Amino acid sequence: MSVEHCTVVSLLPWKLTEEKPGLYPGQFNIAAAPKDGISILVVGESVFQFYVGDGRFMPMKEPADVIARSICRDYKLAKLGFKIGEEGTVGPGLFFVEGKFTEEEVKSRFVKQIQDARKEQMDWFEALMNLADDIFARTGRHQAVSDEMRHVCNLLGQTRPWNFDINTLKQTSECPACLSQIPQRAIVCAQCKTIVNQAEFDKRKFKQAS
Ligand SMILES: [Zn+2]
Repeated sequence: MSVEHCTVVSLLPWKLTEEKPGLYPGQFNIAAAPKDGISILVVGESVFQFYVGDGRFMPMKEPADVIARSICRDYKLAKLGFKIGEEGTVGPGLFFVEGKFTEEEVKSRFVKQIQDARKEQMDWFEALMNLADDIFARTGRHQAVSDEMRHVCNLLGQTRPWNFDINTLKQTSECPACLSQIPQRAIVCAQCKTIVNQAEFDKRKFKQAS
């Protein structure tokens, strides 16, 4: 008897998207889980076209548990730092249960699974922080550290030299004197040497370029 519905439970603080080419439905999205909360997706059967020869295909059903298992497994396997070891699993807080449940039902019925997933995810966050430290120590490049690692660093409220928003470096503003595009964090305009941030300039006691 094939399983008609499964409920995938995510504790991830960001949106999850998994694509299963050849399946219909084949795209699965789970919203970011709120802090200390969960986010769920009920999946049903998917259909795929099975080649039977002579240019003919036959629609076949993939049961919900196969779909749910592959969403969880494929997502985890693709992640740096995911590990199944003797001391337990370290990885994204993601699992599924058989049946169709609401978020409240999952919270009251699957307390142990949620606790375990939260611990696995916290251990994974720590592993990601260590990985980011290693990567940055080896390469010295902020770009080598992933957005996920930065996100985790912010969530844990930790400070790291590799954690700053690269986009703020790229943002530009207009110099009020010469109207050229200058970095938003600029203190002196590189084009016309006008001081564009007097407070920072005074603080750093720059000698104005002549
Ligand atoms: Zn200027």
